[in-house]
Formats: sequence, C-alpha cells, structure tokens
Amino acid sequence: MFKKVLIANRGEIALRIQRACREMGVKSVVVYSEADRDAKYVKLADEAVCIGPAASSLSYLNMPAIISTAEVTDAEAIHPGYGFLSENADFAERVEKSGFTFIGPTPESIRLMGDKVSAKQAMIKSGVPCVPGSEGALPEDPKESIRQARAIGYPVIIKAAGGGGGRGMRVVHTEAALLHAVQTTRAEAGAAFGNAEVYMEKFLQHPRHIEIQVLADQHRNAVWLGERDCSMQRRHQKIIEEAPAPGIARRVIERIGERCVAACKKIGYRGAGTFEFLYENGEFFFIEMNTRVQVEHPVTEMVTGIDIVQMQIRIAAGEKLPFTQRAVQIRGHAIECRVNAEDPYKFTPSPGRITVWHPPGGPGVRVDSHAYQNYVVPSNYDSMVGKIITHGDTRDQALARMRIALSETVVEGILTNIPLHRELMVDAKFIEGGTNIHYLEGWMSSHRR
Ligand code: ADP
Repeated sequence: MFKKVLIANRGEIALRIQRACREMGVKSVVVYSEADRDAKYVKLADEAVCIGPAASSLSYLNMPAIISTAEVTDAEAIHPGYGFLSENADFAERVEKSGFTFIGPTPESIRLMGDKVSAKQAMIKSGVPCVPGSEGALPEDPKESIRQARAIGYPVIIKAAGGGGGRGMRVVHTEAALLHAVQTTRAEAGAAFGNAEVYMEKFLQHPRHIEIQVLADQHRNAVWLGERDCSMQRRHQKIIEEAPAPGIARRVIERIGERCVAACKKIGYRGAGTFEFLYENGEFFFIEMNTRVQVEHPVTEMVTGIDIVQMQIRIAAGEKLPFTQRAVQIRGHAIECRVNAEDPYKFTPSPGRITVWHPPGGPGVRVDSHAYQNYVVPSNYDSMVGKIITHGDTRDQALARMRIALSETVVEGILTNIPLHRELMVDAKFIEGGTNIHYLEGWMSSHRR
C-alpha cells in the first residue's frame, strides 16, 4: 500500500478521499488554490500545499504544479477525484512518466473512453448495446449529415465527441434545423473541448438514465456493483440519484451488468468506472463511460457496503479485488440529494459566506460535505457544497429518512436548492419511482413561480 497519496481536487471529494486514506492508514497531501485556503480538508490535512490562484487553469488544472508538489512531498500516487484532471489522459500519462501512480485507469483507457465516438465503437465491439446513431463522427459533407439523420429518424441529438458535464449537445427536431445545429455544436465543441468532432444519436423521448458501477483490478478481475438511477436532471445535470433503480427487474439489470464486466475485461480496464445508459421500453442503450469516481458513488456504497474510493486506491496499488461478484449483495435502498449553492428555482449560483450550517443526522443518514459555519463558498468553481445521502431497508424508508434529513438541515447566508429537494421528496410521481430524464424540467415549468 502507498504511504502517501496526493489529492488533486477540492471540495467534498477532496475530503472524501482524505477520509478513505485515513481509514487505510495512508497519509495524504492536499493541493489547494488561494480561494480554498480555509477549506476544512485543508485544515485537516496531513500536509497541504497551495498551488496557485483561484482560477482553476492556474491551480487545479496546473499539471506541472501538481506533479512537482508530489515530488517535494514524497507522495507516491495521485488521486484526481472527479472533474478537473480526472479524465485527462495526458495528465495520467505525465503522472506515470514522472514516476507516480495515477489512481485511475491507464491513459489508453481514458483516451478510448474520453472520446465518445471511439467509446461507442469499443462498446459495439464488446457487445454492449448503444443508442442508434451516426457511423462514427459526422464528416464535413452536409449531405452526409442529412442522409444519416434521415436514416436515424428525427428527433436526433448532435453531441460533441469530447463533451462532458452536460455541455456540447443539441437536439434537432427537423431537417431545416440540422445543418445549423451541426455547425454550432462543432464550433462550441472546438472552443470548449479542443475537439470539434461531433456525432449524431437518436434523441430518445422518454428514457431513464441508468448507470452501472464497475471495479476492475490489474489481475483481470472485474465486478459490477449494481446500478444507479440518475434520471432527475436539469440541463443534463443530475441532482438526485438512487440505487437500485426502481421498477426494473433484476434479471434485466443483471444482463447489462454482466456485459459491462465483459467489456471491462475486453478493453483491459482497471479501476472504478461507470457505464452510462439510457433505458427506454425495457432496453438499455450505452451513451458514455466515465473513467473516474462519480459524484453519486455514495448511493452504491450504501447499498453494497463497499468503499469505492478505498477500492480505487487498493487497485492502483496493485491489490486484487478482495471479493467476487457473488459476494456483491444489494441491501436496501439509498438516495442522494446534491446540495448546490444556488437559487432553488432560477438556478443562479449563490456563492458567499455560510452563516448557519446545521447538517442532518440520525439512522441511515450520511452527509458528504466540506462546508461548515462561516465557510465561504468561492464563486470560482462548481456550486455543489455537499450531498445528503439516506439509506433504508426499502425505498420508502430511504425517502422518509431523506424528508426528515432535509427538514433538519439549516443553511443560511447563501441560497441552496434544499427547498427544491423538499418539494421533490413529496412529489407523487417521484415517490412512485421510475420518472424519466425529462420529468424534472417538466415539473419545473408546471411549478413555475
Ligand atoms: P455528458 O458527458 O455531458 O454527461 P452524456 O452523453 O452522458 O453527456 O449525456 C448526458 C445526458 O444528456 C443524459 O443523461 C441524457 O439526459 C441526455 N442525453 C444524452 N444523449 C441522449 C439521447 N440520445 N437521447 C436523449 N437524451 C440524451
């Protein structure tokens, strides 16, 4: 096992990784920007090093600063968390070339899966069902785009091969709007992701977002840890996640889980990963793979009892998976609400000082957050200030515990989306389970105030 790990991230996930290290007796070094000087995990760290100003391009995305910090602090491995450099194959490569272990997949796997066009091609080869779409990236010739869209059938969605975070996507309902959409998505993708390649998919009208968590070690063992339902989204961004997915038969899920494991073995995947699918009319369609730990990993941890972050570190250190697929049991139900510093209905960010912070507690309640009373939420980064996760023997119990947890939570000084979560937890359709990816936006427009 490593003696020391460097955490190349911030916020709740930096704290989460720090906790995992501590439990394993591994020392950790956190790097932070000037805007995060007062963060809890910085104060709690074994070692903390300021690597630059608030702008992430100068700090959390600053590869030389991160790698040289690993050198001067004698860290052996680097955990990238999510976002920032976590899915940057060049970073993974530079980390390894500098003699450190990257806690994640190989640069080749990151590259293969980071390009959604090559990822889909690899999945088709591995027998994982994909959303019907263009034959690879769209060529420049506009006639080709028109031909392929006709073959797929409208509506279609134009997506950036290098896209992420719900950005770089455009839905097209008619042929008249197609070429303009292709052009604009290309231009945006080039500017935002440095890769102007786009592809086309059938736009599914009522799918749910279901994803499969996998773990694979360096000894050709791989397992899947059940599924998560992340259909409660706004602008393609998840806000509530749960495990297991309500109302889908186990044997249907098992079939897709087994395919994901087979795909991991086929591409030589290692580490934690997530296969994301759209699920419609009883069928799964792969959309992308995330080659890192995800924000919503706690719901899987709660129902399996497996610590995904510790497993990432153990796998990177060369250990074998300590359990087989048969030992992975799903117990009860877990729900996660992402707490964002934002206006609950307009979604405008609300950074600033948290004057009152009372997190919830009680049976089956977990709070992953770096926030505290008097903490100042910086305006430079993502607005998520934490996650409330509840677990119960049944979905009803997990829901009841979430309602109680949300009612106990008091945050003042900034706006948060907690009022929205409180309303959604008593919404009849959500309680019924199985709402699709468009449900929340529809709900928002019918509850407009
Ligand atoms: P990102 O990497 O930006 O998260 P994804 O490919 O994972 O992009 O898609 C994010 C979300 O966008 C999905 O969860 C879904 O809500 C929506 N989406 C993506 N592709 C389609 C599609 N073919 N049909 C309908 N919705 C889609």
